[in-house]
Amino acid sequence: MPDLSTSPETFVTHLESALDGTRLPADSLQTLHRDRPLWVRYDLEAIRGSCTRDQLRDRPPGMWRYRELLPPRSSDSIISLGEGPSPLIRCPRLGAQLGLRDLWIKDEGQLPTGSFKSRGMAMAITMAQRFGVQRVALPSAGNAGGAAAAYAARAGMECFVFMPEDTPIVNQYEAVLAGAHTFRVNGLINDCGRIVREGQERMQWFDLSTLKEPYRIEGKKTMGLELAEQCDWQLPDVILYPTGGGTGLIGMWKAFAELGALGWLEGNTRPRMISVQSDGCAPIARAFQAGERFAEPFAGAETIARGLRVPAAVGDFMILDAVRESGGCALAVEEARITDWMRQAVTAEGISVCPETGACIGALEQLIADGQVGPDERVVVFNTGAAQKYVEAITTTLPHIDLSQEIAWNDIEP
Ligand SMILES: *Cc1c(COP(=O)(O)O)cnc(C)c1O
Repeated sequence: MPDLSTSPETFVTHLESALDGTRLPADSLQTLHRDRPLWVRYDLEAIRGSCTRDQLRDRPPGMWRYRELLPPRSSDSIISLGEGPSPLIRCPRLGAQLGLRDLWIKDEGQLPTGSFKSRGMAMAITMAQRFGVQRVALPSAGNAGGAAAAYAARAGMECFVFMPEDTPIVNQYEAVLAGAHTFRVNGLINDCGRIVREGQERMQWFDLSTLKEPYRIEGKKTMGLELAEQCDWQLPDVILYPTGGGTGLIGMWKAFAELGALGWLEGNTRPRMISVQSDGCAPIARAFQAGERFAEPFAGAETIARGLRVPAAVGDFMILDAVRESGGCALAVEEARITDWMRQAVTAEGISVCPETGACIGALEQLIADGQVGPDERVVVFNTGAAQKYVEAITTTLPHIDLSQEIAWNDIEP
C-alpha cells in the first residue's frame, strides 16, 4: 500500500440528523438521532481547494482513492480487502433484447465477499475500530452478515450475526467461516434487529444495522464516485438500483450532490434514480405511489431476492427524497418472474447477476414499455451481488448421462 497519510486527517466537519438537521460531533461514536439516521458532512470548500479530479489518476484503484470525500484519510487506519473498482460493463445483447442502445451493468458482484456490502462494511468497521469498538452485531437477511463477518475478522473484532432462518445457506456459511457468532432466528430481519437492540446493554456490542451508524452510507457512496469517474464525470441518464434498506441509493445520491458541489460533474446533470423492489416486499414503491414521505411496514414480506426483504427501512424518507429529487421513481416487479429476468441477464451477457438485479431488469422492461425510459438513454443497472451466492434461487434438474448406456447424442444436441 502506498502511503496515504495526509493532512488534515479528515475533511469531515460534523454529523447531521437527516430528519431535522441537528448537528452532532463526528469525533465520537454515534448512532441514530430521534430514531433516524445521520449524514456525514464535509468541508467541501476546503476539499475543492485541496484536490482536483485529475489528481485521482495517480492514485491506486479502489474506493479509498476518493479519500478527501471519505471519513478516514490515512491508510494506516483502513480495514480493507481490496474494494473495487467494480467493472462497468456494456451490455449490447441484453440492451437489444430490451430495446436499449446504451445499457451498462456495474458489477458489484466482483467485490470482496461477492456483493457491494463490502464497501459499506469496510467503512463501518474502519470507523468502529477507530472509536475503540471491539465487538459488533447486526441483523442480516443476506449479504451484510457475511461482509460484516469478513471485515470484523480482518480487523480482529468480534462479530455477532442474527439471520432469518431461511437466509440463503451461502450467507450463513460465509459468516460462520469468518468466525462470526451466527444465529438463525424464526422471524424476519426486523425481529433480528430487535435482538441486537435488546442485547446492547448486556452484550456491549456496537450495532452495525443498516443506517444505524453513519458510515455505511459513506462506504456505499463510493459506488457513485466510482461510476462518475468511470463515465468521465458525465453521469448516465438513468440508474436502476434494487432497494432494501436503501443505503446504496441514498449514498450514490449523496455522492452526486457532493461531486456537484465540487464542480466535478460535466454539465452538472444527475441521473434519474429508480428504486426497484419485488411485489413480495415493496414498502418504498408503495409509499412512492401514494405520495408519502415515510413508508408503512410491509406485511408478510417474502422474496427470493433476500436483499430486498426489508419490510421497514429506517431511512425510508431518505430513499424517497432522493428518488423524487432526481425525477426518478420507485416501482415493484412481479416476484414470480425475478429468476427469469435474472437468468435472461446472465445468459445474454455472462455477468453473474443476482435476483435483486433480476428485479431491475423487469423494472426496466416496464419503464421502457411505459415510455419512461427512452431507447437512446444511457442506463446503468447495479448488479449488487454475485449469482453464485443464491443457490436456492435456481432450482433446476440437469439432464443426466448414464455411462452404462450408449451416449444418446440426440438428447445432447440442442
Ligand atoms: C443488501 C442488498 C441489497 C439492498 O441494498 P440496500 O442498499 O440496503 O438497499 C440489494 N442487493 C443485494 C444483493 C444486497 O445484498
